[in-house]
Amino acid sequence: MIMTANPAFEILKETIKSILPVFFRFWWLWLLVLIVFAARLIINSPRFKGRAGEKSVAKSLSVLPENEYKLINDLLLPAEESFTSQIDHVVLSCKGIFVIETKNYSGIISGSEKSSEWTQNIYGNKHSFKNPVFQNYGHIKALEKALSGFSPLKFYSVIAFPEKAKLNVKAEKTPVIYYSEIAATILRTEAEISLSPETVDSIRERLISLSIDDRESRKAHNAEANSKKTEAEKKVSEGICPVCGGKLLIRNGKNGQFYGCSSYPKCRYTHSIY
Ligand SMILES: [Zn+2]
Repeated sequence: MIMTANPAFEILKETIKSILPVFFRFWWLWLLVLIVFAARLIINSPRFKGRAGEKSVAKSLSVLPENEYKLINDLLLPAEESFTSQIDHVVLSCKGIFVIETKNYSGIISGSEKSSEWTQNIYGNKHSFKNPVFQNYGHIKALEKALSGFSPLKFYSVIAFPEKAKLNVKAEKTPVIYYSEIAATILRTEAEISLSPETVDSIRERLISLSIDDRESRKAHNAEANSKKTEAEKKVSEGICPVCGGKLLIRNGKNGQFYGCSSYPKCRYTHSIY
């Protein structure tokens, strides 16, 4: 080969020759590094974190007496205004319906019941996310609609974070607590109204019959939800209410300005101003 005459190539060849045996002697080390790297990538993905969080909550909720508390995990209900309602955990009991929204976040979590956004602070890196109290309110609306024949029903909203988070949240009406406190909070809640065990069972049956369970329907549902969401965003950008087609107007609220619908109070659609 002509290339071998090149001195630079000779040096490179010699270097590789001397490094290769070392590289191969420690092949298991490289493999280990690769496995650790891949595992970290999976563990840190939001999807895996969300699933792990939901599993640990489901496990902690299993301490509730089975004959009195019926647990439904990961309930996906068709919903109109928010297009789809994915509810992490629902606990049905004679006291009413506990709707649990879990956020598998670490760091310092701050926010209040009424602010539209909350913040997560990890070592000085701030990141904002939608107020989970509002999010869970949407879930309760979807449940109310699905269970319209069962009224009056009492709903309890519960927002939970893992122990690794530090909670700095001002909320009076809605418990914003740690995963380990959910079961105790449910047990402590006193009944305002009482449902018969038969009613609780039929509520459970109704929800299970409505839930979108198989992979394909979930996929289709999510795709439709996304396209509806894009459509709604387009309408909002044009100043049109995505719910009723009314005009969006700038309103003054306690926490600053926001877009409200011109058909208020008939239509209660609001949107934050970015
Ligand atoms: Zn409207």
